Amino acid sequence: MATIRRHCEDFIRTRLAPANPPNDGRQTPMRGHPVFIAQHACACCCRDCLAKWWRVPRGVAIPAERQQGIVDFLMAWIERENVLYETERFC
Ligand SMILES: [Zn+2]
Repeated sequence: MATIRRHCEDFIRTRLAPANPPNDGRQTPMRGHPVFIAQHACACCCRDCLAKWWRVPRGVAIPAERQQGIVDFLMAWIERENVLYETERFC
């Protein structure tokens, strides 16, 4: 789980946190890592979903403490759910 959390922090920092993340809307694959699945299930997969579901403002970098909150939320979901089944996309 420590490894998954580290990956989760990296994904959020590099793929979601920048003001204009590369490939926004397509940066989170549908499978391949439990964190990806959690991101889709929790609407934390792209800035559109974060803006729509979590009211994270677009076009500005996500502060470190907010990133940590997202990571905590995703990790709680992963620990609670069986992440092997397919989940619905929000975008
Ligand atoms: Zn999305």
